[in-house]
Amino acid sequence: MRYELANIQLNRACYLLKKSKYILVCGHTRPDGDCIGSMLALKLALNSLSKRVSCVISDTFPPNLWFLPGIEQIKSRKKKVKKIKKFDLIVSLDSSSLERSGLESLRASTSPVLNIDHHQDNSLFGSVNIVKLKASSSAEILYNLLLRLGVEITRDIATCLLCGIFFDTDAFRNPNTTSRTLEITSKLLSKGACAKKIVRYLLQEKSLSTLKLWGKALARLSENRKLGIVSTVLSEEDIKQSETEGLEGIANYISCLPQAKATLLLSEKNGLIHGNLRTQRDDIDISKLAFLFGGGGHKKAAGFTISGKLVKTRAGWKVE
Ligand code: 5GP
Ligand code: MN
Repeated sequence: MRYELANIQLNRACYLLKKSKYILVCGHTRPDGDCIGSMLALKLALNSLSKRVSCVISDTFPPNLWFLPGIEQIKSRKKKVKKIKKFDLIVSLDSSSLERSGLESLRASTSPVLNIDHHQDNSLFGSVNIVKLKASSSAEILYNLLLRLGVEITRDIATCLLCGIFFDTDAFRNPNTTSRTLEITSKLLSKGACAKKIVRYLLQEKSLSTLKLWGKALARLSENRKLGIVSTVLSEEDIKQSETEGLEGIANYISCLPQAKATLLLSEKNGLIHGNLRTQRDDIDISKLAFLFGGGGHKKAAGFTISGKLVKTRAGWKVE
C-alpha cells in the first residue's frame, strides 16, 4: 500500500514536471551541499528536457561548493523573486517548510508546489509531496525521480547528486547511509561523478583561517555533565576574522565525543545565533530539542536560529 502511494506521488511529480515550461527551484536558508547539489542536478536535468529553470536561494552559499557545475547560475536573493506568478511550477528541495526557503514572495504564489525532502518535520506543504524520511539525502530521492522522468544522468548531474549524498551522510559515516545509498553512489560513479573534487572540497581542503577557527571552537569545548551536552561557541567577531563558512563541519567533528549525549555548536552572525545540534545515540531525537528553539531537522542532526548575542562572562559564555 505504502509502495503504491509512493508510486502515485512519483507519477504525479513526473506529470507536473513534464507539463510545466517555466520552473522555479528553491532550497532552504543556510543552504548546504545536499540543498545546492540537488538544486543544480534538477536544473541540469530539466534543461535537458528543454524546460526554463530559475534556481533561487535566500542566502549566499558556502565557498567550498563553488566547484559544482552550474553553480554560478543560482541566484541569491533575499526577498523578491520577480514575477513569481509566471512560474508554472515551484520545486522545493531539502526544505521542511516553504518558510524555510526564506523567500517571502513565495507566500503570494498560486503556482503548484512539488515538495522533495527527507526531513521528519516536513509539513507536507506541496501540491505533490515526495518526502522520504529514510532517504540519506534529498539528492537520493531526486536520483529516483530523474530515472522515472527518463533523464539521462550526465557526468555533471552525477557530480551534483553525489555531492548531496556525500554531504548529508557526512562522507558515508552517518547511519543514514544504507545499501541503497551506496548502490546509487556506485551508479553515479559509473556515470562519471567527480568524487575526487567532492572529497577534496567537502572534506579535505581547509584554509588557514578555517583551521584556526576550528582550533578556537575546539579549545572552548565545555561539558555539562548534568545534561550530558558538550558545547562550544563562535562569536560574530571570531567568524568575521576568518573567511570560513560551513560550520557544520565543526559540528560533525565534535559529535564524535563518546561521553556526550549530544553536542552543540553556537555561532553568531548578524545578530542571529545558529545552533548545530548532533547526537550519536539511537535513543535521542535531537530535533525535538531544536524544535523547542523554533528549529528542526533530523533525529541525529538538527539546528535552530534565535536572535541574540554571545557574550563571554566569568561563569562562561552566555546568550544575551
Ligand atoms: P545544521 O546543524 O547543519 O545547520 O542542520 C542540521 C539539519 O537540521 C539539516 O538537515 C538542516 O536542514 C536542519 N535544520 C537546521 N536549522 C534548521 C531550522 O532552523 N529549522 C529546521 N526545520 N531545520 C533546520
Ligand atoms: Mn538534506
